[in-house]
Amino acid sequence: MPLSAWHAQLAWLGPGRGMAERVLVEVEGERIAAVTEEVDPPAGAARLAGVTIPGLANGHSHAFHRALRGRTQRGRGDFWTWRELMYQVAAGLDPDRYLELATAAYAEMALAGVTAVGEFHYLHHDPAGRPYADPNRMGEALVEAAGRAGVRLTLIDACYLRAGLDGQPLAGAQVRFGDGHADAWAARAGRLRDRPGLRVAAGIHSVRAVDPAAMAAVAAWAADRQAPLHLHLSEQLAENEACLAATGRTPAALAESTGVLGPRTTAVHATHLDDPDLARLGATGTTVCLCPTTERDLADGVGPARALADAGSPLCLGSDSHAVVDLFEEARAVELDERLVTGRRGHHRPADLLAAATGAGMDALGWDAGRLAPGRLADLVTVGLGSVRMAGTRPADAVDQLVFAATAADVTSVVVSGRQVVEDGRHLLVADVPAALDRAIAALDQR
Ligand SMILES: [Zn+2]
Repeated sequence: MPLSAWHAQLAWLGPGRGMAERVLVEVEGERIAAVTEEVDPPAGAARLAGVTIPGLANGHSHAFHRALRGRTQRGRGDFWTWRELMYQVAAGLDPDRYLELATAAYAEMALAGVTAVGEFHYLHHDPAGRPYADPNRMGEALVEAAGRAGVRLTLIDACYLRAGLDGQPLAGAQVRFGDGHADAWAARAGRLRDRPGLRVAAGIHSVRAVDPAAMAAVAAWAADRQAPLHLHLSEQLAENEACLAATGRTPAALAESTGVLGPRTTAVHATHLDDPDLARLGATGTTVCLCPTTERDLADGVGPARALADAGSPLCLGSDSHAVVDLFEEARAVELDERLVTGRRGHHRPADLLAAATGAGMDALGWDAGRLAPGRLADLVTVGLGSVRMAGTRPADAVDQLVFAATAADVTSVVVSGRQVVEDGRHLLVADVPAALDRAIAALDQR
């Protein structure tokens, strides 16, 4: 096993242990072998100037939404009018364009300190709804993209069967999302296997798109494989109302009754919950993935993050539609949005928000990572202290300054599973990430 050593000026060792100085992280292969505080760098150790934290986990991504940035934020409307614009982009993707766009989007994430991405994937088939020769061709494009960008991928292969709770069939841009039946979804998704850098997970698009029997089938599939299971839940009040009308249950109650909730499950958004829903999610240990920059962009609302954490749900974070790709912004938004709603400050400790962005997100994605501790995957993200945003940082306040002031642009170095992917703010595998984004998005604009 190759050995490497990294010496951090400051390193965050988790909510319990806090910030340490002069920390040596020794790495064997892809895992951390030892973490030693307050030592001088030995010969040959790579120096990490600034604050080093575990890898950031992007718990919820739709890579192709990166092509919507700047094109869908203006004007009026709501989630549903935005969705029509999103479908137009979805309709223009083929495996090659998907690969190009996802590679660039994941490279942007790597530059932002993201070492693992949870890609909620439902663009399975061709635009007419016909399977490609390899029925997982689109998913494999995402796997290849993550490899090119140097990040680990949890491919959350999402079941998507119908247009809504009234049982209408998929139509228009949606037909490429569907496998027709949960058994067909399982047969296709079952051909995907975990491999280095890839974790296969199950997805239920939503209670709108998957009927209760199929929800139970997807949950059983995930349980068989001990795979993570993610679903969009109660992002919109209209979804709650339609679910209650059709089934007599809230989306969270329906998820519980179909065996979907549990400690390997992540509910994405969970914005509009009643008290019994909060208790259900918490009591089952279901993680909630908050995506505040998307939720505010789409006028979804502000989820009950404090109440969810109090009920027992771990919290993690995702950039979802990639209106911005910045996990520090997602983390502080959890606290700051709750301040606006309640008129009070101090709902979440900064260290807990950083844990949501790192360890809790890795747990939700099925990776043994997100903590600077022996045995964990060696993901090291370093935030420089030389920018105007981070200047003046004191070790005792470094977590607070990270959470409340750092941006993705302050990330200087990223190590993923022991391999350096970003150095001095430059991506080592994708030479020019902005140009790659330009090309991939222009290809969609011009079709
Ligand atoms: Zn989503």
